[in-house]
Amino acid sequence: MAKIHRLMPQRPRMFRAAVLRTERVSPSVQRVTVSGPDLGEFPWQGYDHWFRLFLRLPHQRRLRLPEFSGSRWWQAYLAIPEDERPHCSNYTVAGFRRERAEMDIDFVVHHGPAGELAGRAAAWACGARPGDPLAVLDQGVLFDCPPDASEVLIVADETGLPAATGILRSLPRDARGRLIQEVPTADDRRALDAPPGVTVTWVVREDRGSVPGTAALGELLRHSPADAGGYAFVVGESTLATEGRRHLRDAGLPRERITFSGFWRHEGRRLAA
Ligand SMILES: Cc1cc2nc3c(=O)[nH]c(=O)nc-3n(C[C@H](O)[C@H](O)[C@H](O)COP(=O)(O)OP(=O)(O)OC[C@H]3O[C@@H](n4cnc5c(N)ncnc54)[C@H](O)[C@@H]3O)c2cc1C
Repeated sequence: MAKIHRLMPQRPRMFRAAVLRTERVSPSVQRVTVSGPDLGEFPWQGYDHWFRLFLRLPHQRRLRLPEFSGSRWWQAYLAIPEDERPHCSNYTVAGFRRERAEMDIDFVVHHGPAGELAGRAAAWACGARPGDPLAVLDQGVLFDCPPDASEVLIVADETGLPAATGILRSLPRDARGRLIQEVPTADDRRALDAPPGVTVTWVVREDRGSVPGTAALGELLRHSPADAGGYAFVVGESTLATEGRRHLRDAGLPRERITFSGFWRHEGRRLAA
């Protein structure tokens, strides 16, 4: 993942929480709403604010968390014996209600070769029950649009849908630009609170065999930035992120005006011809 330390909190804080409720908001997205006494202090910044999610292991009754000060949580995490170390994945704040100390997390539901639920965090989300413990470690915002950007281009697969949703909601209402958003099925499209000057292109994958991100990349390759003064944010499967960045660089967008992040890597990816 591209590292943008500048926007990361210097002293990231851990927040314990518990599951409040779950809901399948669309065929491929399981929403888990969590709450906790101190979650109301989560320093939510809108946009694509993301965090590390910590989950207990299936055999554990309690969630063991790394104890650290400053920013060096990773060393403390690795110091926990493997059979007690919590599972850790990256997620985006899909919704936040400070007055109720509630956060929504949207998990992409994905399946293995035999159709079984895959992904430890995603499978956890599908089986989560009220009261199940978890913790979130604040990681700040990746979106880093220069104030003088003439337009904003956002490109994402379904793992970037919460980020894209949050960015569109947070952008100034006079922002101009375009979102290219890939989703697995037509019913995964959702209403977006986008500024009037930002057009939304949904790219529906439908073909369950194709690698996520390939269709959004195809749409991006047909798009050229209007000028070099824009800003682009490209996230999702790692090839979408890296090839998307390459295309935008070739099209004249300066590197400092592109944020790209491989949110996950497809195993045994089958490249589109
Ligand atoms: C900054 C950031 C924000 C993110 N925000 C979100 C978010 O809000 N919602 C979200 O769903 N994801 C999000 N992701 C992606 C998420 O972290 C990964 O998909 C992660 O692998 C999920 O963890 P897991 O424990 O379920 O899967 P793991 O157990 O880590 O992975 C198991 C296998 O599943 C495969 N896999 C993982 N994700 C997918 C997928 N979506 N489709 C198909 N196969 C997959 C991988 O090949 C992996 O080998 C974000 C990532 C980053 C870096």
